[in-house]
Amino acid sequence: PVDRSPEIQEARLKLPVLAEEQVIMEAVRENPCVVICGETGSGKTTQVPQFLYEAGYASGSGIIGITEPRRVAAVSMSHRVAKEMNLPTQVVSYQIRYEGNVTSDTKIKFMTDGVLLKEIQKDFLLQRYSAIIIDEAHERSVYTDILIGLLSRIVPLRNKKGMPMKLLIMSATLRVEDFTDNQKLFRTPPPVIKVDARQFPVTIHFNKRTPLEDYTGEAFHKTCKIHRMLPPGGILVFLTGQAEVHTLCRKLRNAFPFRKGNRTAAEDEELETSEGMRKFKKAKQKKTVSLPRINLDNYSALPVDEGDEDREAGIGDEEDGDSDLDLGDDTADTEEKADPSIPLYVLPLYSLLAPEQQAKVFRPSPPGTRLCVVATNVAETSLTIPGIKYVVDCGRVKKRFYDRVTGVSSFKVTWTSQASANQRAGRAGRTEPGHCYRLYSSAVFGDFSLFSEAEITRRPVEDLVLQMKDLNIEKVVNFPFPTTPSAEALVAAEQLLISLGALKEPPRAGSVKEMQRASLSSPITPLGRAMASFPVSPRYAKMLALGKQQDCLPYAIAVVAAMTVREIFEDLDRPAQNDNESTKLIQRRARLTQMRRLWAGQGASLMLGDLMVMLGAVGACEFARCTPKFCEDNGLRYKAMVEIRRLRGQLTNAVNSVCPEEGVFVDPKMNPPTEHQVVCLRQIVLAGLGDHLARRVQAEDILDPKWKNGYKTPLMDDPVFIHPNSALFKTLPEFVVYQEIMETSKMYMRGVSAVEAE
Ligand code: ADP
Ligand code: MG
Repeated sequence: PVDRSPEIQEARLKLPVLAEEQVIMEAVRENPCVVICGETGSGKTTQVPQFLYEAGYASGSGIIGITEPRRVAAVSMSHRVAKEMNLPTQVVSYQIRYEGNVTSDTKIKFMTDGVLLKEIQKDFLLQRYSAIIIDEAHERSVYTDILIGLLSRIVPLRNKKGMPMKLLIMSATLRVEDFTDNQKLFRTPPPVIKVDARQFPVTIHFNKRTPLEDYTGEAFHKTCKIHRMLPPGGILVFLTGQAEVHTLCRKLRNAFPFRKGNRTAAEDEELETSEGMRKFKKAKQKKTVSLPRINLDNYSALPVDEGDEDREAGIGDEEDGDSDLDLGDDTADTEEKADPSIPLYVLPLYSLLAPEQQAKVFRPSPPGTRLCVVATNVAETSLTIPGIKYVVDCGRVKKRFYDRVTGVSSFKVTWTSQASANQRAGRAGRTEPGHCYRLYSSAVFGDFSLFSEAEITRRPVEDLVLQMKDLNIEKVVNFPFPTTPSAEALVAAEQLLISLGALKEPPRAGSVKEMQRASLSSPITPLGRAMASFPVSPRYAKMLALGKQQDCLPYAIAVVAAMTVREIFEDLDRPAQNDNESTKLIQRRARLTQMRRLWAGQGASLMLGDLMVMLGAVGACEFARCTPKFCEDNGLRYKAMVEIRRLRGQLTNAVNSVCPEEGVFVDPKMNPPTEHQVVCLRQIVLAGLGDHLARRVQAEDILDPKWKNGYKTPLMDDPVFIHPNSALFKTLPEFVVYQEIMETSKMYMRGVSAVEAE
C-alpha cells in the first residue's frame, strides 16, 4: 500500500524497469540471487527497492538494504525514493561514512558499500536484512566486489538456518560474466534479467582529428557550436576532473552570460569579477549581431563495424548520419531554429561538489535557457540528468595509478574504455534522439580497451585483507573474489600487516616461497582486531592503536584524520583565470605560506614537519569554529576541514569503544602538543609509516646535479624530493618518513616528517 502522487506515478510508468516488475519479482521469489542489467536511467536504483517493499520484503522484521559505491548516490537516491513513495526519511533512509538518518522504523536503507562491509563484521549473517541489493556492480569498486564474494556465502547460510535472504546484483552493463560464470562464487549461476531500456537512437560523431593536449579547449569550441547551431536540448560535457570542470564552466558562462534576474548566486559571483562583468556587458551589446554560421563538417559518421557494439549497449543506430546536423545547407532551416542569444545555464557536477549544488542538475533549468552540465565520470552511470540531448565526450578519464613495486601513486589522465564511452553517449538518448560528439577519431576509439579493469586489480589491498582477516577469513587467496587481486598484491598486503603487528608472524622456516605461503594464511592478532575497528587504512589504524601513550590520543586522532582526508590545502599554485584572480592568488599564497610557518611551530615540533602543519591547521580551524571564511582566508579547503571534523568525531568514538578507560573527547580548544608529546607523536607516526623511510642522498652518491637535495628510498633507483610547500623543505633532515610519493613534475614525498637518526 504505497501512496504515490499522480505525477510520480506517471513518471514511473515511463521507466523501462517497470515493465519487468513481474519477471523480476518472480525470479527473486524462486532464486536466492538474481542479476539485473539495464541501461543507466532505466529505473533500477529508484524502482527495484520499491518492488521489494511492495512484495513484502520489509513487512516483517527484516529490512531492504541497497549499497552504492558513491556517497552521492546513497544520499540522493534515498531522498528520491522517499519522495516517490511518499514516505518520511525515517523509513527510507541512508547511512554513509559519517552520517545518516536511519531509525528503528527504517525499512529501506541506502548505504555505501563500505558501511555494509562494516556491518558484516558485527553480524556475519546480516540478520537485520531480508534483502540486499548491490547497485552499480559494473563499476567493480573494491568493496562491491568483496561484498558480492561475502554474500555468495552469507545467502546460502541464511537459507540453511531457515532465515532466507535475497541478493540482487544490479549492473548498467551486460558484462556480468565475472559474477555469473564464476563457479567459485555461485555454483548455480544466478539468472540474469535484462531490462530493455527505451533508448532513443544516439548519433555518434567522431572528430576527424584528435586533440592531444587541449581537449578542454576543444570541448569549449564544440559546446559553443552546439549551442549556437543546434536546436534546443541539454548538453552534457564529460571531462576528467574538478579543475577542468571549473575552467570550462567559467569559459562557457563568460561566452553565454545570463540575463540579469535569471542568474543564481553562483553566477552572480562569477560575474562580479571585472572580467566577467566586461564580457557580460559586451555580450549584451552584441546580442543583435547575428553570429556566423559554422559548418560542422568536422565529423564523420559511426564506422560500420562499431555499430553492433553500440546497439548492444542500447545506443541505437547510426543510419541517419549527419544529415539533420549538417547546418551548412537548407534542410537545417526546417528544424527548430537555434537561437544563439539564449543564455546557457551552466552547472558543474563532480563527486566532491556539495550536495545542494549537485541537486541543481535535477531541477528544471530557468525558463528561456539551455542546460549545460559539465561533469566528470559521476554522470556516466550513477546519476541521470533529465533533458540531455547532446553529449560532448573528451574520451578521457582521470585515474589513480599505483606502482605495485615502488608504491608511487600518480593521477593520470588516460583514454577511457569503449564501454564507458558508450555509456557516456547513451546519456544523450534518454528523452529523445540525441547526438554524441566524441572529441577523438574513430581510429582512436578502436584502440580503447573494451572494458575498464576492476579496481581491485589496480590498488593496494592491505585494508581489505585486514577486514577479511577480522572476519576470520584466513586464507584470503581462497576467497571467492569476482576478480582475484594479483598474488603479489596479496603477499605485499600480508607482509605489511605482519610488520604492523596486525597479523601473527609466520614461523621462520624453509624457503622464501614457503614463508610467503605460510604468511598468506596468518591469523589476525588482538592489535589487528583493534585496528580493523577503525575506519581508516591499516597504517593509520596502527597510529591510533598506539596513541594511548603519553596523553597523545587526541593529537593522534587529529593527525590521522587530517592525513586520511584528501588535500586539506587549497591549490593556490594553480594558474589564475584572469588578472584580478592572479593578484588575489598571490596574496593568498603569501598568507598560506605565513600560516604554514606558524602552524609548523618551532624547535621539536618543527621536526614533525608537514604533520605538525596539519595538526596546527586542524586546531586553528576548530578553534575558529570551522567557518568557510576562516578556511577561505587561510588557504584551507573548507570541505576537507568539515570532513576532518566529522572524522575526528567518528575516530574518537571508535577509540572510546576499543578503550573506554581513555575517555577521549574532541577538544575544540586543543593546546599545541608539548615537546614531549611531539617526540611521542613522531614515534607513533613512524610506527605506521616505518616502511616509508627515506634518507638524504649522500654527497658522494650524487650522480647527477638534479639529485641534489634528493632522498633515497629502498625500492627506487632515482631519488625522491621534499616539495617546496613542505615544512621541511629548508630543513632537509637526514631521515624522513612520508605518507606517499606522488609523481607530478618530480617525484615528491607528501606528508613528510623527520625521523631521529639513532
Ligand atoms: P538507474 O538506476 O537504472 O540508472 P534510476 O532509478 O537512477 O535509474 O533513475 C530513473 C529515473 O529517475 C531517471 O530518469 C532519473 O532522471 C529519475 N531521477 C532519479 N533521481 C531523481 C531526482 N532526484 N529527481 C528527479 N528525477 C530523478
Ligand atoms: Mg542506478
